[in-house]
Amino acid sequence: MIAINTKDKKIKIGLEIHLQLSTGKLFCKCPDMNNSGIKGKFSRKLFPTENESGDVDVAALQEERKNVIYEYEVSDNSCLVEADEEPPHEINADALDTALQIAFSFNSEVLNAVSVMRKVVVDGSNTSGFQRTAVVSTGGYVTVNEKKVGLTTICIEEDSARRVESGNDHTVFSLDRLGIPLVEISTAPDIETFQEAVDVAREIGMRAMLTGNIRRDSDAIRQDVNFSMGYGRVEIKGISKLSLISEALIAEENRQKFLSEAIGIFLERGGFDGTVLIDYTEKIAKSESKIIQKGIAAGNRIFAGKLENLGGILKSGNYRIGKELADALKLFSIGGFIHSDELPGYGITQDEVNEIKKFLKSRENDAIILISIPESKKDIAQDAINKRVEKLLSLDFSETRAANEDGTSRFLRPISGSGRMYPETDIPTIKIKNSRMVELNSAAPKSFDQALSSFTDEWEISRQEAEIILATGRKKEFIELAKLWGKPREMSRMILQSIPEIERKYRKKLEYGDLKTLVEKIATKNYGRISLEMAIDQCISGKSIEEVVISDDIRPLDRNELKIIVERIRKSGDIRKENIIAKVKNETNRPVDPKIVMEIYQNS
Ligand SMILES: [Zn+2]
Repeated sequence: MIAINTKDKKIKIGLEIHLQLSTGKLFCKCPDMNNSGIKGKFSRKLFPTENESGDVDVAALQEERKNVIYEYEVSDNSCLVEADEEPPHEINADALDTALQIAFSFNSEVLNAVSVMRKVVVDGSNTSGFQRTAVVSTGGYVTVNEKKVGLTTICIEEDSARRVESGNDHTVFSLDRLGIPLVEISTAPDIETFQEAVDVAREIGMRAMLTGNIRRDSDAIRQDVNFSMGYGRVEIKGISKLSLISEALIAEENRQKFLSEAIGIFLERGGFDGTVLIDYTEKIAKSESKIIQKGIAAGNRIFAGKLENLGGILKSGNYRIGKELADALKLFSIGGFIHSDELPGYGITQDEVNEIKKFLKSRENDAIILISIPESKKDIAQDAINKRVEKLLSLDFSETRAANEDGTSRFLRPISGSGRMYPETDIPTIKIKNSRMVELNSAAPKSFDQALSSFTDEWEISRQEAEIILATGRKKEFIELAKLWGKPREMSRMILQSIPEIERKYRKKLEYGDLKTLVEKIATKNYGRISLEMAIDQCISGKSIEEVVISDDIRPLDRNELKIIVERIRKSGDIRKENIIAKVKNETNRPVDPKIVMEIYQNS
């Protein structure tokens, strides 16, 4: 066996962290909320565009071959900009400021002019066929466990459309997510362990949260991981949870380790000259295999091919070269193939296998495959298999993969080349004033701890509560509500305890806008915390804000009303200082001010 040593390959990891901003969309005035209704639909077919040097991007070509129609659901938070029927508006100043503040907080060098570029997107996730992106700073670092991990760039860009449905020849997207600002923070490949990758991602996320402008949706933070262990750089895209970062890395390390071992065996046997698919339909038409019969009934042809020297390493033990080939075919909507490591099986008998082997002049170490596809897809399939094997043989595994929910990943496309960027001519370069830079720099937290201390001091709430508010990105909401309410401590307890409790009770969330209106109205009436909690309860349970705020239910009992109740209790007998508050509360569902009850009790 040809020795391929994986042990002394140094692991290098880099991260790209994407954070959605809650500032409204980047190039129009649409809000950054999730879709709550579909206003219409339209469809497009996208073609790769040539860049100025005339190269058609390899990824673009591959996608184009997929021949897919893209359908878009027009959400109620989209306009003609998202539909690509109107040029982008001016860049959202709040979003840009947030990106700059994040850059300053990581000591990244902010550019004094920001130029928006177009990055070619060919998977349909942008109606225009490109994504707008701008570098706002370069360099900088994040310190984790006393180690400095370098940053390369911080960019601001527009998020892609959300994939709603993927079919064989059509994909449906919603425009609700398209255009939401994303801050992309890229680290250098300085990370050396899987745990370090998790720690760095967490620190970056928490620090960015301090701006108070990060969305709190479940997919508001997404991580891409760059991994290399000596076989080229693999990019794993779209890891949604922090906890899945190390799982994805472990899975990728194993994949590359076993893949390189399998390729070692393959090379030792003499490698591969390419497969030729031969129409085998007539010869296998009498097979009892359901897959074969279903294929023929659907009008497919059954092709057979010989994969030289790949026998026993397509699927055996830890070796899974077959999966690599299947993934490559999937890109062209070809649902896979049957190979000799799984045969006899799928209703195909040993005799039939022997027949195919004889027909293809297959030798001991060769694998054979059967593939059920329309005649028109034969060349595409053959090409996809041969290209994939060639690539694996070069022991260069560099490619872009997509993260799966279970921590594994799947082949997505080759790593995109530099041909993917060109200037956005609809948006002039944005100059950032020096005074603005100074202001944002001084406002930028240089560490989470420092920010926590000053926040705790300023609002006089407990450090523990302050930490939760900051780390979960609720700083802006808290400040807004605390100012309206006038009692920060009450408000922090309300946000962290009472409201979540009520929401759990009804299994329903209160929209932030509704909460703000309630707080404002109840504060104006001078009603107090209990009234506000009651109002929130009624609002979540389905009543309208207008109805709730004028309702008598939430109005605290006044002194006269309380007097009557206290008298009634007195007449009925047992009345003591210790039980008077509880007794009064028992008599009414309305808010009660204990202080006033006490006064009445003592003065009567
Ligand atoms: Zn819009």
